[in-house]
Amino acid sequence: MNQKDLDQFQHLVQVLLQAEKEEPVAAPIPTEQLFSTLDLSLEQEAIDDDILYQNLESLIQKTPKTASKLFFNQLFAGRKSKSVLGDLVAVMLNTSMYTYKVAGPMVGVEKAIIKAISDAVGFGSNSDGTISSGGSMSNFMAMVMARDSFNSRIKIDGVEEKLIVYTSAECHYSIEKNAALAGIGRKQVRYIKTNDFGEMDINDLESEIEKDLAAGNSPFFLNLTEGTTVLGSFDPIDPAIRVGKKYGLWSHVDGAYCGGVIFSKKYKHLIQGVEKADSFVLNGHKMLGTPMTCSILLVRDKSRLNHSFSADAEYLFQTDDDEFNLGKTSLQCGRRNDALKLWTLWKSIGTSGLEKLIDHQFLLADYARSYIQNNKNYQLYSFKNSISVCFNYKDIDAKMLCERLYLKSKILVSHGSFQGKSFIRLVTINSDNSVEDIKQFFEILESFVASEFE
Ligand SMILES: *Cc1c(COP(=O)(O)O)cnc(C)c1O
Repeated sequence: MNQKDLDQFQHLVQVLLQAEKEEPVAAPIPTEQLFSTLDLSLEQEAIDDDILYQNLESLIQKTPKTASKLFFNQLFAGRKSKSVLGDLVAVMLNTSMYTYKVAGPMVGVEKAIIKAISDAVGFGSNSDGTISSGGSMSNFMAMVMARDSFNSRIKIDGVEEKLIVYTSAECHYSIEKNAALAGIGRKQVRYIKTNDFGEMDINDLESEIEKDLAAGNSPFFLNLTEGTTVLGSFDPIDPAIRVGKKYGLWSHVDGAYCGGVIFSKKYKHLIQGVEKADSFVLNGHKMLGTPMTCSILLVRDKSRLNHSFSADAEYLFQTDDDEFNLGKTSLQCGRRNDALKLWTLWKSIGTSGLEKLIDHQFLLADYARSYIQNNKNYQLYSFKNSISVCFNYKDIDAKMLCERLYLKSKILVSHGSFQGKSFIRLVTINSDNSVEDIKQFFEILESFVASEFE
């Protein structure tokens, strides 16, 4: 990177930080006007650097600000400074994580993270893991390991039996896609009923497994969602795994959203029993606040990772012990260094700092829930021990209200539904927010409704 671009980078970052303060919700550009509003075209001839810098400046101004105080739309938000620092260094180094020869000590950085999370989970000394391109991919890899563990011939011969996946009706949509990709088929996914709190119903799980066995099918994979996408509910791990083990299923814990509770003394009871699972996923870019993406997949028996993902490639794996050639346990070939951004954050604030981040998100959610419960214009739809706070205000249609808040550049927040009821979902995942920021969210919402709807 030349000095001029480096200076310009500093300048553009200042532009962004300023814009986040002055216009926390960028005015959306209607899609039909996008290409006429911004100069996005690619031309035959080179342009002046200064024109490029101007282009970048306008792009930054118009791009949604996911680190602003008013971004509540997704299961990630904010910007952890030390983590951004690590990620910027990773871009400059541009390592690829497949071999020790190319990634050097960065392999150790990734291994240190995997070991520390595995210790927190309680997976024991025979565990291992990898960092994948995201939670969807981590879930996919877990399903493939489960498939190959059920029948080690599948990777050679292909799927012949009717393999069955069990997951709750509130799970992430990657489970269904992954069943298709792994050759299992979307129709072989059983959506287990949930109780009124959005948690998997264990009796229904067992009766679905029994039905499949009676039909001659092959149950093999149990997915438990810890932090469901809408309500932020936690499937009960201990009783579910007891059923899973009884029938020989691989149990996978999808903690992409809220697996970070593993670091909190106060909240880790929510995933009690996780150490008995066969695999576990945690997204650093959700509760831990790293930049996108950083998804850690752990497996209790490390031979499963090798069994499903190692392949020989003489042109790639030429030196060193394969323990340190991470390409042997990854689906990808070239792979970004997503470890460093979590390492810099963790190294800087310690495990106790991670715990504080998690606890603070729950504290913000507690505040939001009590605000809602103490105001009769609101109705609450979600439950304690969740950082997804679901509500309606003055019975206004949630979808319409979220859309108007977006179009008028007030707040970015989304809506969801459970048991036939739709509502706004406020996610308190930005640990840089304060209680005051959450209060401000409600105040902006209320004054917007007063001016636009009344
Ligand atoms: C976000 C999420 C995923 C997918 O993770 P990506 O990194 O977005 O692919 C999977 N499962 C759950 C429960 C999630 O919340």
